[in-house]
Amino acid sequence: MYADQTLTDEAGRIAALERLGILDTAPEEPFENVVDLVRTVLGVPMSAVTLVDRDRQWFKARAGLDATQTPRDVSFCTHAIRQRAPFVIPDAKADPRFAENPLVNGDPHVRSYAGVPLVTSDGYNVGALCAIDTKAREFDEKDLSILRNFARIVVNEMELRRIAERDQLTGALTRRGFLEKANEEIARCRRYGRDASLLLIDVDHFKQVNDTWGHPAGDAVLRELVAVLDGSTRPADCIGRLGGEEFAMLLPETGAEDALTAAERSRRLIAAHPVAISPERTIAITASFGIAPLVETVTSAEEWIARADAPLYEAKRAGRNCSKVAD
Ligand code: GH3
Ligand code: MG
Ligand code: MG
Repeated sequence: MYADQTLTDEAGRIAALERLGILDTAPEEPFENVVDLVRTVLGVPMSAVTLVDRDRQWFKARAGLDATQTPRDVSFCTHAIRQRAPFVIPDAKADPRFAENPLVNGDPHVRSYAGVPLVTSDGYNVGALCAIDTKAREFDEKDLSILRNFARIVVNEMELRRIAERDQLTGALTRRGFLEKANEEIARCRRYGRDASLLLIDVDHFKQVNDTWGHPAGDAVLRELVAVLDGSTRPADCIGRLGGEEFAMLLPETGAEDALTAAERSRRLIAAHPVAISPERTIAITASFGIAPLVETVTSAEEWIARADAPLYEAKRAGRNCSKVAD
């Protein structure tokens, strides 16, 4: 099926895991559903979707387990990802590899284990779907077949989740992907007392572009706009397409004054960069910017975006092609 070298290529495996962009993200329903189903169908008290990182295993979903991660060296799943076949331990206390394991002798008192590797479409075992019991038990072929099917569902979800984060037209984050990033940024700023700002960007008279030059020309403008924004800032991951011709940008470590400077720089770049809509024609475009520095009262990405709405409206009313900061 896959070249066996993907089983030993640890650097490639970690890169595949990072491409999924799933480590340390919030719980999500599809994965929660799978671990609940594994518990019910296999009749085990614990189940987890585990991702095996460099030196830890992190649980994307867990049922019946309290920890959110454990060191890699004590994890059962680190064994499961070395092979394609299910990794089964009917009695951990009778197995010299696990008899002294702290997860066996202490919480959560793992006694038996069945783990099926989570194989990405490029062949890397990034983690495992596992079923765990506090008493010794066998896992028969039917149990393992169920786990294998659920493991496929888990990998599909992870890969779809990744696709759903990127807008196909521009390569920017989708609204969903951007909200996730913005929520992470809010949490980070709270934890470390840092500054951050959000820019809301709306193309000026975009409807006219579509009406005059056609929808494909409008699409070219959107693609080009993201390319320009991308080039004018640090990481691409911070630009989201919230819908239509409205975009948002996250500026970590940036207070109100610096955010205004950054917005103005991007705004000027856009205005100075005509877009080729056909081999013989270029058109000039401009955009308006609303700026919302993160404040205490903002607790969600939606609220943060909403705070940039008023200054954006103000920028439009002031004649467009300008930037305004929230009060
Ligand atoms: P304003 O300066 O006030 O922002 O005017 P506007 O014309 O840009 O604003 P309006 O919201 O009226 O128009 C947005 C247009 O964006 C309407 C819609 O047809 C177009 N649009 C939305 N999504 C896409 C897309 O994916 N591609 C193209 N080509 N057009 C789109
Ligand atoms: Mg517009
Ligand atoms: Mg608009």
